[in-house]
Amino acid sequence: MLYPAINKSVIIFGSINLDLVAKTPRLPMPGETLQGREFFTAPGGKGANQAVALARLGVATQMVGRVGEDDFGSELLSALKAAGVQTECILVDETASSGVALISVDDSGENQIVIVAGANGCIDNVDLECLNTLLPNAFALLLQFEIPMPNILLAAQAAKQNGIKVILDPAPFTTMPAELYPLVDIITPNQTEAEQLVGFAVSDIDSATESANILLQRGVGCAIVKLGATGAICATPEETFFVPAFPVTAVDTVAAGDAFNGGLVAALVARFSLQQAVVWGAAAGALAASKSGAQSSMPTREALIAFLQARGAI
Ligand code: ADP
Repeated sequence: MLYPAINKSVIIFGSINLDLVAKTPRLPMPGETLQGREFFTAPGGKGANQAVALARLGVATQMVGRVGEDDFGSELLSALKAAGVQTECILVDETASSGVALISVDDSGENQIVIVAGANGCIDNVDLECLNTLLPNAFALLLQFEIPMPNILLAAQAAKQNGIKVILDPAPFTTMPAELYPLVDIITPNQTEAEQLVGFAVSDIDSATESANILLQRGVGCAIVKLGATGAICATPEETFFVPAFPVTAVDTVAAGDAFNGGLVAALVARFSLQQAVVWGAAAGALAASKSGAQSSMPTREALIAFLQARGAI
């Protein structure tokens, strides 16, 4: 069945940022002023990217987070609403700026990024209270590491108490408290994050499997290690399997991991098997990698299904 009824929602508790991108011939030295070539803004933040990925895939998606009471905040809210994300639990913080990423990219593709968490860093119990009102009708809670860790822990605990799946993308890497592992049903590090979590090099399927097994020992229910153009390895206490990446011409892999999580969870909410869900993740990641941009590269449900059908994957 390609379009099973989806009546449960997915909650994303995470960051909302505006990316301010300057293209320059080279990166500036400390104290130097350079003429840039081009400037654009784009909505981002790992939380918002995953929310847009899910909403585009036809999942009822509720975002919990904060923006500032500024023009960027209005722009970010509009982008989420336009993608179909429900924004009732996005607070407008009167005291903080919206989260921003100041990104300089030079002609060789090298970049320099300053992230200011702003309102994302002010998330507190008020946001958790709103999150709690959404939990009874939710299927899953998606978390990442761009909001304060104590709130991530509290949200995971609340989800567990409500019997809701907790899916954690441990990105960008931050030391993960030991008590968070057993609260996580599925953890989805990329290669670098897996290395940082386990403390050894993750460079191929074998080392990725080894890292996934360590994450299982620490208490997660399932570990999926995303390996870029190679694919992804998935391990649970019952099974371990590898899903190869779909060959595509990669244009820009920004947010491929966020698209992967969107595809994965969209399949799980539709009650597909874990194996099928990882295939959906890989397809969403491949489609995002073949287009430039972050949120703008997230596939629609129709595009994802057409991609899978064309490759005999469903
Ligand atoms: P992140 O964006 O978090 O660093 P990855 O780069 O590992 O994550 O990408 C996530 C997933 O997206 C991969 O596991 C893979 O399935 C898919 N993907 C990423 N890059 C490509 C690519 N160049 N070609 C095909 N699929 C890709």
